[in-house]
Amino acid sequence: LEPDYQFMVRVRLPGGVLTPRQWLDLDQLARAHASSGLRITTRQTFQFHGIAKEHLRDMIGGINDTGLSTLAACGDDVRNVICSVNPRLSPAHAEAYDWALRIMRHLEPRTSAYKELWVDKLERTSDGSQDSEPLLGKTYLPRKFKIGIAIPPYNDIDVFAQDLGLIAILDEHGQLAGFNLAPGGSMGASAGNPATYPQLGDLIGFVEPGQILDACWHAIAVQRDFGDRVERLHARLKYTIDDRGLDWYRNELQSRLDFPLQAPRDYHFEHNGDRYGWTEGSDGRWHLTLQIPSGRLLDTKGHTRQTGLRDIARMHTGEFRMTCDQNVIIADVAAADRAAIDALVEQHGLDDYKRASGVRQHAIACVALPTCGLAMAESERYLPTILDRLETVLDKHGLRDEPIHFRMSGCPNGCSRPYLGEIALIGRAVGRYDLRLGADHRGERLNALYRENIDEAAIVATLDELFGRFASERQGDERFGDFIARTGVVEPPRRRPALDFAS
Ligand code: SF4
Repeated sequence: LEPDYQFMVRVRLPGGVLTPRQWLDLDQLARAHASSGLRITTRQTFQFHGIAKEHLRDMIGGINDTGLSTLAACGDDVRNVICSVNPRLSPAHAEAYDWALRIMRHLEPRTSAYKELWVDKLERTSDGSQDSEPLLGKTYLPRKFKIGIAIPPYNDIDVFAQDLGLIAILDEHGQLAGFNLAPGGSMGASAGNPATYPQLGDLIGFVEPGQILDACWHAIAVQRDFGDRVERLHARLKYTIDDRGLDWYRNELQSRLDFPLQAPRDYHFEHNGDRYGWTEGSDGRWHLTLQIPSGRLLDTKGHTRQTGLRDIARMHTGEFRMTCDQNVIIADVAAADRAAIDALVEQHGLDDYKRASGVRQHAIACVALPTCGLAMAESERYLPTILDRLETVLDKHGLRDEPIHFRMSGCPNGCSRPYLGEIALIGRAVGRYDLRLGADHRGERLNALYRENIDEAAIVATLDELFGRFASERQGDERFGDFIARTGVVEPPRRRPALDFAS
């Protein structure tokens, strides 16, 4: 008798955009084959857990039938290209989203095996040697490679956490002038291995829109050719850059390009994370951002979020947009349709964010136990409990509405980008966490370890004391993470030396 094999299936959804028809199709597939509903990931897409082996082809084939794919959503290739969350806020947002699609198509694997196995559902008869992979070659990349586009002033994708971050630069007319390149970011670290660590990307230049496909291709090719193929834990671009230097990487990339990398252009990020509620786009259409705790859409006692979004998809004529904080935007809504959507949102408890504390509005957690085989502690399941405890002490200090970015993960691997949380808990063992503090709210500074391997009582007591100091000693509207850094509660982590573009 074969073991009861189960799989996780992840959709490739560049920029996180989905039509209402596709939403309904994915919802139906989740109900037919997945054990845990629809789950929005921190890379603007969906993943489905608990897919039985005998349902795998129906699941992946069904996703392809919707016009989507799972190709390169996992693996040692270029993962889902993410992009600032709303393509309809302005023409430049639409253009940046279009570049996300073009980058994905330019860099995707060319293999014919995927279609044979999962779409046409054929038994493979060839060995794949006829496939040509001009970028990935026969052995693909040393490890996964993540690309994301942010449009200042919002760093809602955490652009410096990407292997290759692209910062869209707009000219004085609001037109897209090009992209700053920021390679070398990644959140992942491995438990008990100090040679692995989170790192932020650094600026190495600026390219014009017509140059971005070549720039991405060769930025990846450098890592393909020089990345570590012996030690997998050392195989991300950040380690290649740290070992050889940012100057070396820029020079190697420049040597492969037939245009000069320009000096990075000025930009300013105001914040990372999502902002909830309705916003109006430049074309007069409306967009509603809803919080989906831990990205989980599954009807449970007291919450019918999955049904609610399904009902909205049935009447919605615009599109859906996933965010990197695992939330959803109901995008491109006519003013006349807002009331009907608001009614469904209220009916299904999708407006909980209106009553949530500041820390709860800005909390994200990885899936961890019991789903993830690498988890050392609870994360998603424990998040509501620890937030209850923290709200009690925040109330005590008059900080209930203070927007604090809180991120939690079940191991140091960093799937919830915890190293960019103003407060982060990283699982060490069941019931025990490392407490990290002091990231900013713009995604530009990593946090640092403050207390190691502590339990809930110690976490709450430690933060109680720090919240008390913050309430009485903060300067103006200083944010909690900035207060922690300014007052020296933690030392900022080591950064690689930046390039000097002044000369
Ligand atoms: Fe699993 Fe660790 Fe990622 Fe959480 S951070 S989902 S525990 S690998």
